[in-house]
Amino acid sequence: MRDVVILGSGPAGLTAAIYAARGELRPLVLEGEPSSSSDQPGGQLMLTTEVENFPGFTHGVLGPELMVSMRSQAERFGAEILTERASRVDLSTSPFGVWIGDPGAHEPTLTARTLIIATGARSLMLGLDNETRLLGYGVSTCATCDGFFFRGKQIVVVGGGDSALEEALFLTKFGDTVTVVHRRQDLRASKIMQDRAFTNDKIKFRWDSTVVDILGDERVTGVKVRDVKTAEEAELAADGVFVAIGHAPSTDLFAGQLQIDPAGYLVTHEGTKTSVPGVFACGDVQDHVYRQAVTAAGSGCMAAIDAERYLSSLTEN
Ligand SMILES: Cc1cc2nc3c(=O)[nH]c(=O)nc-3n(C[C@H](O)[C@H](O)[C@H](O)COP(=O)(O)OP(=O)(O)OC[C@H]3O[C@@H](n4cnc5c(N)ncnc54)[C@H](O)[C@@H]3O)c2cc1C
Repeated sequence: MRDVVILGSGPAGLTAAIYAARGELRPLVLEGEPSSSSDQPGGQLMLTTEVENFPGFTHGVLGPELMVSMRSQAERFGAEILTERASRVDLSTSPFGVWIGDPGAHEPTLTARTLIIATGARSLMLGLDNETRLLGYGVSTCATCDGFFFRGKQIVVVGGGDSALEEALFLTKFGDTVTVVHRRQDLRASKIMQDRAFTNDKIKFRWDSTVVDILGDERVTGVKVRDVKTAEEAELAADGVFVAIGHAPSTDLFAGQLQIDPAGYLVTHEGTKTSVPGVFACGDVQDHVYRQAVTAAGSGCMAAIDAERYLSSLTEN
């Protein structure tokens, strides 16, 4: 039985681990499995190169380097980290059950008085080989994070929803042109976002088109698009490609056990509390608005403090 089990080792999970460890709670972190593309130990920042907006690094820091430091910092204070993923949880009774390996096993692998969920989210991708190869080298999933690198450049945004147009409008601060490639003739985005995009001189649209390849050896030089009606293909020059086709929070394990919003995110209230007392959630798994490393880390700190207070209240009663 553990006082605190943390699921996830992105900025949220590791910050929670640092705080819980320094609070003498001996947290156990299940960091995910390297073999699984969705459960990358270290989280999403392991997929990127330069991170320039995490406070404390004047000249930026490489994403993987930042995560290795956070992991060592958590271990320094006594957090125990297992390279495993949770395959099942039972939140119906306290202490909570957490399974590693066979989810059908009768008994949980471990039990926890509090559970901190920091399982993050995954950006939906186009599924192209060159998209993976050039991620961090012109391909991005986050305009707030990477827009700054594209001053005076030509940018392509893929998608047609509110977040695609939000990304496109934000990117007009930096790029010379921003071309939105959308597979239909009409956008899913709200009317107000459409109006803003249509009246922005820098934004152009490529309708009825899908991106079928991303071009470039070392860095992105363009995209290949296919017209869905005529099957005609064309190349568009571009320095940056922002894939904005949605996010998938990692909440499958909690379906039917915790309150989840229609977009699949865990619902939190009064800080990081979920719908089950003793279960806390932090980072991108409960945040569809900010989705930044620093906000994830901040909410990880909150979750550890909330867990500590919850444990204290158990001993008081
Ligand atoms: C390419 C890219 C570049 C980015 N650049 C920046 C940037 O420059 N600046 C910035 O602020 N933000 C950036 N972001 C966003 C930032 O990475 C996220 O906001 C942040 O990582 C969210 O942290 P998190 O801890 O909530 O989740 P994540 O980083 O998503 O981590 C989730 C963790 O949960 C684990 N996990 C999942 N399921 C399980 C399970 N069942 N059991 C155990 N563990 C599990 C995973 O292994 C992983 O360790 C970028 C994102 C991407 C994809």
